[in-house]
Amino acid sequence: MEQTFAIIKPDAVERNLIGKILEKIESKEFRVAAMKRVLLTIPVAECFYHVHKERPFFKDLTASMCTGPVILLVLQKEGAIKAWRELMGATNPAEADAGTIRKEFAVSLEKNSVHGSDAPETAAFEISYFFSQTEILS
Ligand code: ATP
Ligand code: MG
Repeated sequence: MEQTFAIIKPDAVERNLIGKILEKIESKEFRVAAMKRVLLTIPVAECFYHVHKERPFFKDLTASMCTGPVILLVLQKEGAIKAWRELMGATNPAEADAGTIRKEFAVSLEKNSVHGSDAPETAAFEISYFFSQTEILS
């Protein structure tokens, strides 16, 4: 069964949306294989988003990920990576389809409530970056 990595970002945790987002995840038949609530540090966020380090928004992005606790998740389902990207919706909530998490809950491009791996290689890196094998119960 495919696994993907998800984050409920600080803007959503701050607005008490953990339960509502998990409800959407479970209603689409994802299994939560691992979950924890942590406060990221700048170096951890910078390494996590290293693919964006040359982008103009890198500093703001990594800072915003450290403004409050996040929920880290390993989600499991057939075709989980694509299915989770679909459920998240477009990066910019203004362009997100109806029924997606970003359409419903995100407030802006910067405060877009959730993260999801975009490919098998990034999912493998991101899962192992935050979870040890013993923390993932598939
Ligand atoms: P994520 O990686 O968080 O799941 P994504 O894959 O949809 O989002 P990316 O292109 O990887 O989008 O960008 C990472 C994050 O950086 C976005 O979620 C968004 O918060 C922020 N971001 C992307 N583009 C911009 C931009 N042009 N200006 C400001 N912030 C941006
Ligand atoms: Mg991305």
